[in-house]
Amino acid sequence: MHREQMDVNIDLLKKYDRPGPRYTSYPTAPYFHNGVDVNTYIQHLQNEDRNVAKKELSLYFHLPFCNTLCYYCGCNMLLNRNKNRVDQYIDYLEKEIKLLKSYLGNDRKVLQMHWGGGTPTHLSPQQIRRLGTIIKSHFEFLPEAEISVELDPRELTFDHMQALQEIGFNRGSMGVQDFDPQVQEAVNRIQPEDITRRAIDWARELGFVSMNIDLMYGLPFQNTKSYARTLEKIIDINPDRLAVFNYAHLPNLIKRQKLLKADTLPGPEEKLNLLKLSIETLTAAGYVYIGMDHFAKPQDELTLAMQNGTLYRNFQGYSTHSGLNLLAFGISSISMLSDLYVQNEKGLAPYFERLDAGQLPTMRGVEVSTEDQLRREVITELMCNFRLQKTDIESKYGISFDEHFADALKNLHVFEEDGLIVLETDRLTVTTAGRLLIRNIAMNFDAYLMQKSANQPQFSRTV
Ligand code: SF4
Repeated sequence: MHREQMDVNIDLLKKYDRPGPRYTSYPTAPYFHNGVDVNTYIQHLQNEDRNVAKKELSLYFHLPFCNTLCYYCGCNMLLNRNKNRVDQYIDYLEKEIKLLKSYLGNDRKVLQMHWGGGTPTHLSPQQIRRLGTIIKSHFEFLPEAEISVELDPRELTFDHMQALQEIGFNRGSMGVQDFDPQVQEAVNRIQPEDITRRAIDWARELGFVSMNIDLMYGLPFQNTKSYARTLEKIIDINPDRLAVFNYAHLPNLIKRQKLLKADTLPGPEEKLNLLKLSIETLTAAGYVYIGMDHFAKPQDELTLAMQNGTLYRNFQGYSTHSGLNLLAFGISSISMLSDLYVQNEKGLAPYFERLDAGQLPTMRGVEVSTEDQLRREVITELMCNFRLQKTDIESKYGISFDEHFADALKNLHVFEEDGLIVLETDRLTVTTAGRLLIRNIAMNFDAYLMQKSANQPQFSRTV
């Protein structure tokens, strides 16, 4: 149904380009606060566990270490050359797992796991095996579990991949950003094409069912001519999924980005051309635009989930499962229960201290009110499935949709006039052109953005 080449209207993108959230959570992370602490987390964990319809689990492990620094990086990462430091971190992950398990029943099974970072493959194969064994001795995995990992081809060996496969990893993702040598040098990420190809080949040989490649536009020296060559090579490598991210240059917030020379970055017009080129090239090559920077092959499970209306969005991006409890481990990681988000301490020292004191390292969070849950469902439906059945929301939450969202619907008329949505009595449908501006459409339902306070948080631009 969505298998089609997309044409991108740059004037429309320009009109709607403004800062906005990416909606990996609602309320979004800037609204997390210290009033939600470890006691709130334990209470909610135990409530979930008492629920008859207990949710299955999604586990996330944040492995923050990297060998070198990519100058565009916005992740919570730590430069490291000391393997003992990694062993120490794994010791603390084990403490965190044991503590958390003391608040959770033994009957909660794992349907998803993701290792992110940083660079999970900065761990040696032996450290990967050790962490895998620790996790598996505390959690029971369902046979159909989706287990995914972020790989860095630059440090990867076949032994790393075998260690991951032994634990059960069956999906992988790796950063490329751009194959152009001048761009790679400017961002301090030298990654020749052959090692990316080799990593994908190893994954396929070991039976990984879906492999993703991340690209980025808006980096130094990028232009449509050289980026077209990168896209051509990527299409030839033939990953199952692609994410094409907009580089957000926020040097005042992310100090390391000052290492990129501002005068080498493409201007706004060139960035839009790079975006247009990426979307048109990838959809012409048969990839389906999933939404929010993501593409997948027609037979990939993400595309199928989008077509079945079961796609979901969380901190790792798009997911094929909704309704799981997400339990996150490691510094800065974010957990999600039915009506709570909590984030761990961001630094190693406080994270270690809290665990040494026998406490979960919860730093802050937010409780999700019924109104938040309603708006989260509306935003998630739009972001994932590009449609909203008003009657479903009305019967689930006991509201009149048109009355409850009168302001949003008023604001949406301009989107309708621009051909981005179709408003009908019982539903709202996002058009193909509207899918590129889905963040802007969803922002109309965000009650926090509507509060015109002077302290509005800083978000990346929507286009
Ligand atoms: S490898 Fe990833 S996490 Fe590490 S510095 Fe580069 S972009 Fe950041």
